[in-house]
Amino acid sequence: MKIAQLFGKGKTVFSCEVFPPKKTSPVDSIYKTLDGLKDIHPDFISVTFGAGGSSNVNQSTAEIASIIQNQYHITAMAHLTCVGCTKGEATEILAQLKNSGVENVLALRGDRNPDFPPKEDFLHANELVSFIHRRGDFGVSAACYPEVHPEARDLEEDIQHLKEKVDAGATHLISQLFFDNNDFYSFLYRVRQAGITVPVEAGIMPVTNRKQIERMVSLCGASLPKKFVRIMHRYGDDPAAMQDAGIAYAVEQIVDLISNGVQGIHLYTMNNPTVAHRINQAVASLIRCANR
Ligand code: FAD
Repeated sequence: MKIAQLFGKGKTVFSCEVFPPKKTSPVDSIYKTLDGLKDIHPDFISVTFGAGGSSNVNQSTAEIASIIQNQYHITAMAHLTCVGCTKGEATEILAQLKNSGVENVLALRGDRNPDFPPKEDFLHANELVSFIHRRGDFGVSAACYPEVHPEARDLEEDIQHLKEKVDAGATHLISQLFFDNNDFYSFLYRVRQAGITVPVEAGIMPVTNRKQIERMVSLCGASLPKKFVRIMHRYGDDPAAMQDAGIAYAVEQIVDLISNGVQGIHLYTMNNPTVAHRINQAVASLIRCANR
């Protein structure tokens, strides 16, 4: 099923993101993650695409997407990046996805990594969206940034580029993580004002340890509300307490988002099904509720 078809069914779409385990992890660790996630019945699971392609991971993105689709019978979405593949490589990966019945691709520019010089066949995500969309086989999604992409001059320019991705064929958007729902609401207002009508999922990351948030914030530039900083100062050195507080914070965000009629929640699971479970348990009946 194409992701865009999941929307408009009267309930909030709930999806999860996983990443291919590194070579240093056991090859079957992805099965442990997926075994844990299948019980929370996500509408789809997406798989990230690393800067090193498949060279520093146990299984490739396409392979894991196929496992999700065919062994777990959950709709899968494979991420694909401009910096990580040439036109030829993208064609090969898309053929592999099509052969294994994976119908959805999240087209991204990709994070630049000094260890891997970027491929340059596609410069921006809109070019990759268009390339995939023209094949006609896939539902294409793209990323958006409630707090503005760090390289954009301002929100207006960023939304203009977002519109280019939608005009190129993206039929669904997933947001970067954020910790203040008001940032998401004002962004969504501006997105709709710009004439972008496709479903937008809110990206939520449960922060369960201090190191994780320091790395994420330096990478994506998300701002931390005072309330959140207080939690980190108080519980950052106590892993169990930080996990409880991070889960509670994410649950509070999700409850507010669903009550405000958000179309979808995309959980950055960090391959931690226990945390995803606890969050799902807290909001399962809200997700099932009709959204208006
Ligand atoms: P783009 O849409 O190309 O935008 C990047 C910047 O360029 C923005 O500032 C934009 O305003 C500007 N821009 C866009 N189009 C144009 C244009 N035509 N001309 C000039 N400027 C333009 N990274 C990975 O490496 N692997 C992943 O699996 C991955 N998954 C992600 C999933 C989600 C949901 C999100 C939100 C991000 C993910 N990322 C991933 C990170 C993402 O690749 C980075 O944020 C990257 O810096 C931007 O990607 P993009 O697709 O939004 O790029």
